[in-house]
Amino acid sequence: MSTSAETLEFQSEARQLLQLMIHSIYSNKDTFLRELVSNASDALDKLRLEAFRDKDLQADTDDLHIEIGTDPENRTLTVRDNGIGMSRDDVVALIGTIAKSGTAEFLKKLKESKDSAASQDLIGQFGIGFYASFMVADKVTLLTRRAGSDEGVRWESEGEGTYTIETVPDLPQGTSVTLHLKPEDTEDQLFDYTSATKIKQIVKKYSDFITWPIRMTEGEEVATVNSMKALWARSSSDVTEDEYNEFYKHVAHDWNDPLETIRLQAEGTFEYQALLFLPGHAPLDLFMRERKRGVQLYVKRVFIMDDCEALMPEYLRFVKGVVDAQDLSLNVSREILQQDRQIQLIRRRLVKKILSTVKTLMSQNADKYETFWKEFGRAVKEGLLDDFENRTAILDICSFASTNDPEKQTTLREYVERMKDGQEHIYYLTGESRQSIENSPHLEAFQAKGYEVLVLTDPIDEMWVDAVSGYEEKQFQSVAKGEVELDSDTTDEQKEEFSGLLTYLTTSLAEQVKEVRLSSRLTTSPACIVGDTNDVTPTLEKMYRAMGQEMPQIKRILELNPGHPLVSGLRSSFAENGESEGLAETAELLYGMALLAEGGELGDPARFTKLLASRLEKTL
Ligand code: ADP
Repeated sequence: MSTSAETLEFQSEARQLLQLMIHSIYSNKDTFLRELVSNASDALDKLRLEAFRDKDLQADTDDLHIEIGTDPENRTLTVRDNGIGMSRDDVVALIGTIAKSGTAEFLKKLKESKDSAASQDLIGQFGIGFYASFMVADKVTLLTRRAGSDEGVRWESEGEGTYTIETVPDLPQGTSVTLHLKPEDTEDQLFDYTSATKIKQIVKKYSDFITWPIRMTEGEEVATVNSMKALWARSSSDVTEDEYNEFYKHVAHDWNDPLETIRLQAEGTFEYQALLFLPGHAPLDLFMRERKRGVQLYVKRVFIMDDCEALMPEYLRFVKGVVDAQDLSLNVSREILQQDRQIQLIRRRLVKKILSTVKTLMSQNADKYETFWKEFGRAVKEGLLDDFENRTAILDICSFASTNDPEKQTTLREYVERMKDGQEHIYYLTGESRQSIENSPHLEAFQAKGYEVLVLTDPIDEMWVDAVSGYEEKQFQSVAKGEVELDSDTTDEQKEEFSGLLTYLTTSLAEQVKEVRLSSRLTTSPACIVGDTNDVTPTLEKMYRAMGQEMPQIKRILELNPGHPLVSGLRSSFAENGESEGLAETAELLYGMALLAEGGELGDPARFTKLLASRLEKTL
């Protein structure tokens, strides 16, 4: 007898994903089996752990395994596990909805991407799990019973908008998923998922490392089709790149190969093995608040937890993989892990290893390094603020856009090697876009002298440049802050000549700036605005305000180019006529122009255009 059968609707994101799968624009359909086996394996891991922690759990843990059965006559394929199972609520929450952060962004990008290769790539990055079944099935039936509960659940759907769910008695513990396969595609033998031989091949290829037995029955024979060896426990010479890649897909829920595989083994007082991966692309939630981080933690081959944040600092949150420690208790909790000295030591070692791996990529595989940096550089730079101990190692693997070559990023080492005789600092300019920085008047004199300037456009750049003092004994110096001494041509004589004008302008522009002075930064522009050495930049000021922080208005300094005709004209006009309204307006226009030139926003655009229009009028 079954009770309370209901027809429910999929959540809208889930519905859209299902549509994708039904019309399967993803070419490698075999992946559906990997996803089902991966879920089954996770369910067995969870059961073993829960049974260990909860001695009262009424669960059968004697022969945990996965079973795959095919029925060519009825064209079905069933994947069964006797793991943790799901309650009715679990099924509704886990199978009826997609709770992955970044789903909306993913779907939006997918809609925007017109070409099919790009769409495939996106789907691969997103890593669709259970729903991948609908690439090959036109109906899916799921039977499940949560370990410790009497009540079973039957779920069924054709993937089109709704599913039915009902409570059923007498189900075995765990989950079985039956796919009613789509009609055979005669042109494409690959589609024959009722062939036991085919299924065996797929399991071997994608799921061999699963540490639970995957069994198939052929005639009277029951055979285990995977070798069940934990990859990280095997000697590395023994494991092929393909095996690592497939394992990565399992732990990372990614459908693409990793960029790099990192192995680490420690023997002695505390023994552990780590198998880590640098993904080939950033996850959609890399910069979202609810993002996950951390690798899987195992203790003596027993799965303990996903997303073990104690093992990975925030700025390396994209690293995936497994750490298997020998001497921890199976009962260990997240709170204990945060304090655990052993875990802290493992983490230090993992971090160093990851950073040194990236450094090696830099010198040995420039393409891979570039991909890494493009995808994860913004996150890695957070480490310059958070990880004092590894600051130099992080600076070593950073690269930045620079005025040296618009096509190429530069490392700091390369920058330092190119430094001109007499150049004391590593110069940089921060801003919102490369274009606004490159056109900024602040760069003029540096360009004229042939000094290279780093072009920093990530929001995080605004912060680390303040925290990090230098690299290889060279200080970082903003070209838009403080006084720069470019053994300039501003002579004492000039200073004297201009001093009256500057004092006057400082008063007349007192609302906008804290000082007006002569500049050695400029060659062609009449004026620019610079910050005081220790002041926050306008971009940072804006960022803080956006985050809801109270910020006092920070006034900057207006610098004038004494060699520019407009500025020398101002000086002679002031010398002849003294203070005048016209002069004050010119000063205001000059300030507005300097703001616009650095890509800034005018305080009162209406007034600026009015002043400008009346000036233009006079020229006609
Ligand atoms: P993912 O595996 O990436 O989380 P899925 O869509 O494949 O996404 O599965 C969603 C969730 O459903 C899983 O996280 C798991 O909690 C649950 N689930 C799926 N398959 C099983 C299973 N065989 N046994 C128990 N729970 C399962």
